[in-house]
Amino acid sequence: MITGDEFDELPPMTVEQRQQLIAAADVIGRMGASLFEVGYLDDDAGRWYASARYAGRRVTSEAHASPWDAADTLARTLMDGGGCKCARRVTLDPDTPGCLWTRTGDRWSSSCAAEPIVVGGVVRRGDLNAMRAAYGERVTQVSNRADRRAKKPRRP
Ligand SMILES: [Zn+2]
Repeated sequence: MITGDEFDELPPMTVEQRQQLIAAADVIGRMGASLFEVGYLDDDAGRWYASARYAGRRVTSEAHASPWDAADTLARTLMDGGGCKCARRVTLDPDTPGCLWTRTGDRWSSSCAAEPIVVGGVVRRGDLNAMRAAYGERVTQVSNRADRRAKKPRRP
């Protein structure tokens, strides 16, 4: 997570830019990241990146003009198509069906009353079991084994 010291190394920010960065760090944390960082690749201009770690897997958004752009893009990628606790898919677009998440100031929030959120966009189907194991009760769309067993025809 971003610490005070690291914040001092970031370029001067407007209130809006700082809120964008804080909101991204906050929602990435709420999605269960074990690490979140923003950084700068020294050898080239406009190479800010943001990176998060989920269940041992690193997800990075690179080549941004600013740390707040990098963090915001990473957050949006992780949120979009994720699972909201209300059991709908998270959407960031009002015209797309699902639970609309919007940013107000330094906080992303859902349009429903259920807040917790599960990583979306970048997660491949094959990783879902690992995610479930890692996040336990945070994951909302856990397959219902009893239900599946009930549908299976019983052998005589
Ligand atoms: Zn929701």
